[in-house]
Amino acid sequence: MSDAVAVEERSVATSTGALAHEVLHRVFGYASFRGHQGDAIVHVCDGGDALILMPTGAGKSLCYQIPALVRRQRGLGCGIVVSPLIALMQDQVSALRESGVRAAFLNSTLSAQRASEVERDFRSGALDLLYVAPERLLTERCLQLLSSAPVSLFAIDEAHCVSQWGHDFRPEYMQLALLGKRFPGVPRIALTATADPATRIEIVERLGLEDARSFVSSFDRPNIRYEIVEKLDARRQLIDFIRADHADQAGIVYCLSRRKVDETAAYLVEQGVKALPYHAGMDSEARQRNQARFLRDDGIVMVATIAFGMGIDKPDVRFVAHLDLPKSIEGYYQETGRAGRDGAASDAWMAYGLQDVVQLRRMIDESDASDQYKRVSGAKLDSMLGLCEAATCRRAMLLTYFGEDDAADARGEANCGNCDNCLVPPETFDATVAVQQLLSCIYRLKKERGQSFGALHVIAVLRGDRSAKSADKIAQGRHDALSTFGIGAERSELEWRAIVRQCIAFGYVDVDHESYGTLHLTARSRAVLKGEEAVRLRRFVKDAARKKGRTRKDLDPADGLDGSAAALFDALRSWRLATSREHGVPAYVIFHDGTLKEIARARPTTIAALGALSGVGEKKLEAYGRQIVELVERGEAPG
Ligand code: ADP
Ligand code: ZN
Repeated sequence: MSDAVAVEERSVATSTGALAHEVLHRVFGYASFRGHQGDAIVHVCDGGDALILMPTGAGKSLCYQIPALVRRQRGLGCGIVVSPLIALMQDQVSALRESGVRAAFLNSTLSAQRASEVERDFRSGALDLLYVAPERLLTERCLQLLSSAPVSLFAIDEAHCVSQWGHDFRPEYMQLALLGKRFPGVPRIALTATADPATRIEIVERLGLEDARSFVSSFDRPNIRYEIVEKLDARRQLIDFIRADHADQAGIVYCLSRRKVDETAAYLVEQGVKALPYHAGMDSEARQRNQARFLRDDGIVMVATIAFGMGIDKPDVRFVAHLDLPKSIEGYYQETGRAGRDGAASDAWMAYGLQDVVQLRRMIDESDASDQYKRVSGAKLDSMLGLCEAATCRRAMLLTYFGEDDAADARGEANCGNCDNCLVPPETFDATVAVQQLLSCIYRLKKERGQSFGALHVIAVLRGDRSAKSADKIAQGRHDALSTFGIGAERSELEWRAIVRQCIAFGYVDVDHESYGTLHLTARSRAVLKGEEAVRLRRFVKDAARKKGRTRKDLDPADGLDGSAAALFDALRSWRLATSREHGVPAYVIFHDGTLKEIARARPTTIAALGALSGVGEKKLEAYGRQIVELVERGEAPG
């Protein structure tokens, strides 16, 4: 490359960067880019394809919104955003309009008349950004429409939907590669918060993005505290957790089945929590109503199956609780990632027990999927179990799983200071003898009585427990005559359950689901039985010492505000609620908690001072500036 060309390229890059900054500041009210945002935006503005992998809350949307605005200013047309979640398009578009961006969407919820207005606006160049559902985009009619006016870029959001291993798989996504062929020269950006390398490769292959530049951020979510507790009385544990740390705050509770969603929501309501159910078995109107309330009102707890949540943009979800084990670490990370998009302290809490393992293994085995799929699913579940049973830093394990070994190593002893294992290190013990007892009990039952049994019966035999439900089975099978009968009597049933679970997680015991969750020995069992391998396990503690370290105050959105600032923050929140109702948009679309806090701290008494705060763009300043300055001057609740 000659020097002259290099200089010219650099000056184009600088001017693109300057333009991008100007838009960031003027439209969105932010002072600077975060992480890879700036580089990715300049790359796309200048016509490059990009693959953007950033955790939830990192700010992926700006990575296509700003290039679309910059390219629009350069006369290059309207940006097209492919997004699978039509229920959310409305809110995304409202938020952009609040910032003065000319955005619209096309999906099946629009009337024919409204859709043709949007089409007309697109043709006449009156739009900056157009959101389209993938199935609609792929229709010949829509492709024709997009050929009728310039398109500045294609953003493919939630790009992991092309992966058939993920639970968000959408067949239509496989066909999106045609955009590259049909619209050559139009940059394409694929975005996802799914972090595993296999999905990354699938996205590149299936979307034909071989030439795209990748922008990969660390997937650490430092503001999320991970905690996994032993499931004893799950609902009770859940309500205690909510009351202790999250009263009146927004959260999501995930359950595996629809029935459990309904029951749990009803229970929480009974306990005085504002909870709503969400699952695919409800009629779509009720489902949407609940989703809208969750997004708009303050402090709603959504109890849901995993049908809920992809692309949920609500920034102030303060906790995600799992009452059932997710099927994979990818799922766990994605679901927990919905907490704390705004960067404030949040919790990822899960109650997990032996039954979860048995149930999930059975679901995998009983599905009609191919053997390969079952194998992959089984391996993913094993990794998830490993995370649950770990005695070391959960965050380090998560990051290592997603290939960020460096990030985990960089912590030295891997103490993140913000997960249960780091805050209250679990006690471990030499469990070699206990595991040998368990393994030989499984072995004797099979060898001498010709049968295999599930965990509960094996535990009853180990404990010599004739009073349990297993009494009949013990008598009929003469299990009390086995040499292993009662050899583990000194441990409680709960202790044994914890041991069995860990043995399954670490591969010392296998569960066979085709025969009702019976326990079997594995290749690893031999070494332990022969005394060649020692086993350390975490000790079961009944009321595991709960969180130290963080007090309720850290979780309060008003934290760090002194008396009068806190009063102003409350006043601003009531003003925001009233305004959002008036406009029919979610409260966070008007201003985020973080911006309201800044206002409460800085007390700007001029429009210019207000405009300097983060999150206050030109359009919002124009629309709300005066009202806010008046509120600050009064310094108290309106009315
Ligand atoms: P993602 O799609 O990656 O989950 P979003 O695009 O929804 O994240 O952004 C998360 C939040 O961070 C949003 O509220 C957004 O306005 C805010 N945000 C994004 N980029 C910046 C930035 N450069 N400065 C300040 N706030 C930002
Ligand atoms: Zn940790």
